[in-house]
Amino acid sequence: SKRQGGHSVQFYTPEMNAEAHDRLQLENELRKALERDEFLLYFQPQWDLGGGTLVGLEVLLRWQHPVHGLIGPDRFMPTAEHSGLIVPIGNRVLRAACEQGVAWREQGLLPQRIAVNISSRQFQRQDMIEVISRTLAETGFDAGRLELELTETVLMDNGDATVTMLRALKAMGVHLAIDDFGTGYSSLAYLKLFPIDRLKIDRSFVMDLTHDSDDAAIVAATIALGHNLNRTVIAEGVETPAQLEFLRQHGCDLVQGYLLSRPLPAEEITELLRAQRVA
Ligand code: C2E
Ligand code: CA
Ligand code: CA
Ligand code: CA
Repeated sequence: SKRQGGHSVQFYTPEMNAEAHDRLQLENELRKALERDEFLLYFQPQWDLGGGTLVGLEVLLRWQHPVHGLIGPDRFMPTAEHSGLIVPIGNRVLRAACEQGVAWREQGLLPQRIAVNISSRQFQRQDMIEVISRTLAETGFDAGRLELELTETVLMDNGDATVTMLRALKAMGVHLAIDDFGTGYSSLAYLKLFPIDRLKIDRSFVMDLTHDSDDAAIVAATIALGHNLNRTVIAEGVETPAQLEFLRQHGCDLVQGYLLSRPLPAEEITELLRAQRVA
C-alpha cells in the first residue's frame, strides 16, 4: 500500500482497489505457499558448445499451487519482489538448490555448476553474504559449484556496495554471471570493475538473431567483448538449429534453450545426467 506524507487527500478508483486487492491476496497466498512448502525447483541444462556436454543447470522457480497447478515466476515474481517475500523465497531456493546439488554429487552426477537467480531485494540485504556462506556450510555444497545470476539492474541498484559484495562472493569461491546482459542500463566501464566470470546474453537478442542483422551484430559483439575481457559467454533462449549454428560459429561458450532442453524437474535431470555419464 502506498503511504503518503502529510495530509494529502488520496483518491482511489474501483480499479485501483481491485488491483491492490489482487496483489494483497496473492501476497497472502505466497506467504501460505512458503509455509506449506509449495515452491518447487526446475532445472534447465546449460550445454558446452565445444564438447556438447551438460555442464550447468539453471534453477528456475515454480509454484505448485493446490488449485491452479504449476505456476511460473512471471505470475508471482513481481508481487514476491514488491512484498519482500522474495527474500525468504530466494533463501529457500538457494538452500534447496544446494541440497539437490549434494544429492547429485553423492550419486556421482553433479555437473560443473548450479546457477541460482538472485533478485535485487536479496542482493540489497546486509546479511546476504552471511546467508550464502551459512547455506553452503550447512548443506555441504561446494562454493565453486555455485553460480549466482545477477542482472545489470541488481548490480547497478546497489552503488558502491556492489563491488564489495561481489569481491566477498569471489573470495568465497562462488562463480558470478551477469544475467539478461545488454537489456539493463549498466555501463561497459563497470565490466572492468565487477569481478564477473560470465556474461549471459538475453533471449531477446537470441530470438531474432537469424533475421535481424542488428541482433546478430549485438550477439557477435557481446561474445567478442566477453572473450576479450576473459569472461565466458552463455546464450539463453536458443530455439532453432540456425541460432545454435550462429553461436557456434561466433565461439559462444555455452548455450541454453528449448532446442536443447526445457527446464525440468530434478528427477528428469537425474535421468539426463545418468545418460550422459554412461555415454
Ligand atoms: P531468466 O533468468 O531470464 O530465465 C530464463 C527464462 O527463459 C526462464 O523462464 C526459462 O524457462 C525461459 N527459457 C529458457 N529457454 C527458453 C527458450 O528457448 N525459449 C523461451 N521462450 N523461453 C526460454 P521462467 O522459468 O518462466 O523464469 C522467468 C524469470 O523469472 C527468470 O528469467 C528470472 O528472472 C525469474 N526467476 C525464475 N526463478 C527465479 C528464482 O529462483 N529467483 C529469482 N530471483 N528469480 C527467478
Ligand atoms: Ca537467469
Ligand atoms: Ca533472460
Ligand atoms: Ca531475468
